[in-house]
Amino acid sequence: MAGEPQADCLFCKIAAGDIPATIVRETDTTVAFRDINPQAPTHVLVIPKVHYADAAALAVGDPQAAVDVLREAGEVAAAEKTVDRGYRIVFNTGAGAGQTVFHAHAHVLGGRGLEWPPG
Ligand code: IMP
Repeated sequence: MAGEPQADCLFCKIAAGDIPATIVRETDTTVAFRDINPQAPTHVLVIPKVHYADAAALAVGDPQAAVDVLREAGEVAAAEKTVDRGYRIVFNTGAGAGQTVFHAHAHVLGGRGLEWPPG
């Protein structure tokens, strides 16, 4: 059921503590951890503990959790001291956009120049 943990979901397992991750922040509703393949000096993923396939589905199914993810993305950027230089919050949505893990997550990227448009 939407929102429930999925047995085959990597990020549900990280949220449950069943798979190790370098966790930088945790709240009742979110977990933030370092990306295993960082694309910038700061590259942290913020996930809701509830399972939705992508950010848009999360916003419909659990709007408060979507807000929590965004708030935590800002908190991560502040903790990483990347706010002044600018940072990016990215939600890859769909395989065609590069999404590979189908549990909603925000990429928080910073600490280097970020080009526009992205690739
Ligand atoms: P997506 O491509 O937008 O779905 O982002 C998934 C991200 O998860 C990628 O940037 C991966 O490097 C990252 N990732 C995959 N497995 C792990 C893990 O076990 N720990 C931390 N990050 C992971």
